[in-house]
Amino acid sequence: MPFADSLHALRELLSTPKRLALITHYNPDGDAIGSSLGLMHVLRAAGHEATVVLPNAAPAFLHWMPGYPEAMVHEPKRTDGPALIKAADAVICLDFNRRDRVGGLEEALRAAPFTVLIDHHQEPEDFAQISFSDASACATSQMVHAIIEALGWSDRISTAAATCLYTGIVTDSGSFRFGSTTPHTMRVAAELMERGVPFTQVHESIHDDNSLQRLRLHGFMLSERLTVLPELATTIITLSRADLDRFNHQPGDTEGFVNLGLSIRGVRLSAFFMERPDLVKVSLRSKGGLPVDGIVRDHFSGGGHRNAAGGQSKESLAATVERFRALLPTFMAAHP
Ligand code: 5GP
Ligand code: MN
Repeated sequence: MPFADSLHALRELLSTPKRLALITHYNPDGDAIGSSLGLMHVLRAAGHEATVVLPNAAPAFLHWMPGYPEAMVHEPKRTDGPALIKAADAVICLDFNRRDRVGGLEEALRAAPFTVLIDHHQEPEDFAQISFSDASACATSQMVHAIIEALGWSDRISTAAATCLYTGIVTDSGSFRFGSTTPHTMRVAAELMERGVPFTQVHESIHDDNSLQRLRLHGFMLSERLTVLPELATTIITLSRADLDRFNHQPGDTEGFVNLGLSIRGVRLSAFFMERPDLVKVSLRSKGGLPVDGIVRDHFSGGGHRNAAGGQSKESLAATVERFRALLPTFMAAHP
């Protein structure tokens, strides 16, 4: 759906006050929360009723974000989020593009009468009536900014909204480092900064707010659980349930670990495997043209971007890693 067509339809939808539910993916990250809350603030400023419903909580280092305490967090306590989603005039889906990404909200989303998609992942499922899909955008938050601007609503971006969108862009672009960062990204960041974003605080909340336990887990991971396969230019990191328990693991504590594997000289692919109660979570990162999203899509029920993708496995931690190692030589040979 071309941007102009989507914009026209969205303008039409928002031409009268609406009841809107904004939802994002399970285990929401900075961009998921930033794009949802940022758009929520702007929609409210434009006279709409807007509520953010999250499948589960964001990691604690994102709870300071303006509007987060008002978001409905569906898991583990259950909320009337599903009822709200079904009753909304429209459900706006941010930072995910498949309906199986929203955990316990999936049934409600499938029943929703009207949906709008705003997302930057590859291969969107075709389910929304209005769709903004741009895999080249560094963050969904950057897309939200573009849509707000195109609607002529820039003046409705409050400091709170700007802070949310800025945080989303910072987290998903790796603080303006990843290849998806463009001059346009920097202009958007500058414009948001002009709206009073406390950017030092944003960066400190993201990077300099570790618990001691997390830092110790980090050290343990580096010294005991990281393996480099030099001939395959690959790093493999594994953390078992026992490892995580030993350091009183909290959601978000392993954020960024996989990227560290990629920082080793000569490494092109970093793989991170973490035991969760019901499954093994797989995270892959790569440099350059190495397309890791294909690996998770084909072998680990996941997806993502060329250089950052995630998925899962129902096998044991050891069996999952074994399966990955088995397919690695062929994959690397196919992408020299
Ligand atoms: P992470 O490794 O940080 O969990 O995720 C990296 C990227 O892969 C993110 O852009 C995320 O949207 C995507 N991703 C992570 N897990 C899944 C999954 O289970 N399914 C799909 N389709 N994408 C995922
Ligand atoms: Mn994102």
